[in-house]
Amino acid sequence: MTYVTYDLRLSMRDIVINGVNVPAGKQVQINIGISRLPTHTLIDLPVFVYRAKTDGPGLLLTAGIHGDEINGIEVLRRLIQEKALLPERGSVIAIPLVNVYGFIASSRNLPDGKDLNRCFPGTPGGSLGTRLAYILMSEVVPHVEYGVDFHTGGARIANYPQIRCTLDNDLTRQLAQAFNAPFTVQADMIDKSFRKEASRKGKTILVYEGGESLRLDEFAIEQGKLGVKRLMQYLAMRKHAESPPPTTTVLRQNTWLRAKASGIFNAFVDYGVPVSKNQPVANITDPYGQAQVTLKSPYDGYVVGLNMMPVVNAGDALVHLGAE
Ligand SMILES: [Zn+2]
Repeated sequence: MTYVTYDLRLSMRDIVINGVNVPAGKQVQINIGISRLPTHTLIDLPVFVYRAKTDGPGLLLTAGIHGDEINGIEVLRRLIQEKALLPERGSVIAIPLVNVYGFIASSRNLPDGKDLNRCFPGTPGGSLGTRLAYILMSEVVPHVEYGVDFHTGGARIANYPQIRCTLDNDLTRQLAQAFNAPFTVQADMIDKSFRKEASRKGKTILVYEGGESLRLDEFAIEQGKLGVKRLMQYLAMRKHAESPPPTTTVLRQNTWLRAKASGIFNAFVDYGVPVSKNQPVANITDPYGQAQVTLKSPYDGYVVGLNMMPVVNAGDALVHLGAE
């Protein structure tokens, strides 16, 4: 059993969100008012805070920063419904749906077209995205040390369940291995993303990717749920069913195979499967049976993501490969 340290001063501090004080041993839902729709309907951000009587780590779970990525929302909804987030030590803060605007419009982005995950750390008086980012950074992030931010592939990309993180960081890698998604993939931090800005505040946020936008993927949802339970167990926040030893495949290198030509894309492999060097993984044909080009894997590895769009343009990202 690995011993996990946490900041005792942080955990002893009061948790106050939107002016609501959450004492030890309490579970509350706090609705933070964001803004009104043009209809004047009030949009608020439901935040669920679960606090144990005993001190321990603070864990933040966020989903739906991209409003059309539903799997993560469903992961958190199921965990909340099962009361699986109630900790025996420390506190869990769950925000199942961050981008309410994108959710109701089946859109990744906010109504002004901005990507919320490029609006961090935000400002109180800026665009809607920067305001929402500022609320997360100022009201929620100070109360936690760790987090998992749930995503799916965007733009018709399906991702096999994976944690994306910075493998060079020992703590991050240990948390990712504890989560034990099928794949753990090296991913540099993106400027103005939630993960990067939270890390600048000393917080460790793992990004979970599973399935594709606008679709429920039962396997990705189940893997997300299991991962949260394993992580809580690893952080000694709560005992869940006995965790198997980490079996996640750690992929330090990853490459997108892009379309060499425009046309109809046929993948020969499913996502999640191993591939060998020079194995043909897909082809692109014209619509008339006159021309075709084949894409081959440059190395022994795994398919971690796959474009589900059959009609592609030259340069489109088609097959995401990872290698140990
Ligand atoms: Zn996303």
